[in-house]
Amino acid sequence: MIQSLLIANRGEIAVRIIRTCREMGIRTVVAYSQADADSLPVRLADEHVCVGPAPARESYLNIRNLVTAGVLSGCDALHPGVGFLAENAGFARDVKDAGLVFVGPDPEVIDLLGDKIRAKHSAKDLGIPVIPGSSGSVNNAEEALHAADGIGYPVIVKAAAGGGGKGMRIVHGGSQLADVLAIASQEAEKAFSDGTVYLEKYLENPRHVEIQIVADRKGNVVHLGERDCTVQQNHQKLIEESPSPVVTPALRARMGEDAVRLLRGLGYTGAGTVEFLVKEGKHYFMEVNARVQVEHPVSEMVTGIDIIRQQLLAASDESLEITQDQVRLGAYALECRINARSAGRVTQFMSPGGFGVRMDTFLYAGYHVPPWYDHLVAKLIVTGQNRAEGVRRMERALSELVIEGIATNIESQKKILAHPRFRSGDYGTGFLGEILKEGAL
Ligand code: ADP
Repeated sequence: MIQSLLIANRGEIAVRIIRTCREMGIRTVVAYSQADADSLPVRLADEHVCVGPAPARESYLNIRNLVTAGVLSGCDALHPGVGFLAENAGFARDVKDAGLVFVGPDPEVIDLLGDKIRAKHSAKDLGIPVIPGSSGSVNNAEEALHAADGIGYPVIVKAAAGGGGKGMRIVHGGSQLADVLAIASQEAEKAFSDGTVYLEKYLENPRHVEIQIVADRKGNVVHLGERDCTVQQNHQKLIEESPSPVVTPALRARMGEDAVRLLRGLGYTGAGTVEFLVKEGKHYFMEVNARVQVEHPVSEMVTGIDIIRQQLLAASDESLEITQDQVRLGAYALECRINARSAGRVTQFMSPGGFGVRMDTFLYAGYHVPPWYDHLVAKLIVTGQNRAEGVRRMERALSELVIEGIATNIESQKKILAHPRFRSGDYGTGFLGEILKEGAL
């Protein structure tokens, strides 16, 4: 079993990992940048090591400093968290070469899944439905036009190495394609140092539904049901829930089986998410996130299973604590992401509580939110007997939440929850864009 873990991350996910480690008796060492010296993970961890100055590329993305911190602080494993280097195969390799366990899938698997074209091929080979698209990368306007004619407009140009909603462009007709291709490829080159792009059919207003997987090295690959992440702004998730209002038991079973088959086929270990788009009752594979995700608490609350704990067990070559038969999907869970819209000192902070409420955050009164990193500052998660009760409980919890001194999206989350379309459960990924146009936010 892992004895001592370097957490190569910050913010709420670092706090989240520390909490499970403490319960498991694992010593934690958190790596932090100079901008995070007074952060909650630094306060909560058993030990802390400064890995560089505020800019992420000099600290949280500094592979040499992170690996050295792990070795010198006597850790036997490293957890990459979410974002930063969590899906960087080179990092996973360097961690292993330094003699530490990397909490995540093997570098070869991260490599394969990091290339969305290869990931789609793997899914297709296993008979999993994928979004129709170009058979591989499109390297010039001529190839793109040919592929798009076969797929039918609208199409979406996507970066093979993409992530975080970056490098995606929708094209409605052939006349725009050459220009958009060039722009998307340049964007991808800039963001991911890889300008490879491919085409997909652009599904109008689909649902985003993903399956949470946990897998160990002993052949257990278990799915924990779905999360619906259809409420998105600029392709970035804002609200997640389980079960999905549109997933029937039959669809859940098919998606779960497909997700398990894919990750079993790839020899995947740890926590991972298989993302699908759902349209007219059919699911289409999109990509795999080879790490734990921001929205994992939704599945934890709906199943009662600690996903970080399963990740740490799998990384330690232990068995998962559950088999598929033992997974009980509970009634309902809902998460609202609380994002900062400005940096600065939090002058007042009050966390909601009470029955069925969970708060994952690194905020405290007096904390200075640095301007350097991701804008996610808290995740509010509630459970309920059904969707209506869960939504009401979330409204109650949001009304208790006080964050002063920085601007946040709390008020806009309240408006989304109150919107009749959200209440009806009947909408697609375009929902937020539509209500923004109506001026409802
Ligand atoms: P990233 O890895 O950058 O987050 P994804 O491939 O996961 O990108 O897609 C993010 C979101 O973009 C999806 O949830 C969906 O809203 C939208 N999207 C991606 N591909 C398509 C598509 N073919 N048709 C319609 N929407 C899409």
